[in-house]
Amino acid sequence: MPKYLCMNCTNDKGTPGKPFAADVPKCPCGVDGTLPEYAAFIVPQAVLHYDPPHAILKGKGTNKAACDGKPVQGRYATGDPREVNCDQCKEKKVWKDGMTAAGEYFVTVDPVLNVAPNGTVEMAQNPE
Ligand SMILES: [Zn+2]
Ligand SMILES: [Zn+2]
Repeated sequence: MPKYLCMNCTNDKGTPGKPFAADVPKCPCGVDGTLPEYAAFIVPQAVLHYDPPHAILKGKGTNKAACDGKPVQGRYATGDPREVNCDQCKEKKVWKDGMTAAGEYFVTVDPVLNVAPNGTVEMAQNPE
């Protein structure tokens, strides 16, 4: 589904440019990017796929999107999992592994279970 920014709405940082995904460039706020008077307020966003690290070649990606396994040529892709905005790529284990390697934590089990007696929280283990 295409992604857009609505410049009439604010994002979670409080600045203009609320992201939304829709089949048509129309924000829930009522701004319809298909109408000339609103077109400037709806900015199309490239979907940025995850290009996971190559299994053998160091420092190289696979040149295939994690979500569909198809070549990334002609599409946007990055090897930095933190930059990815493709929701399907983000559902893949390889993206979660990349995020874990990047130092991001995934809480995939009840975090209460991971609190040690001394109060430190263990990094959640990915059950996959
Ligand atoms: Zn809006
Ligand atoms: Zn993707």
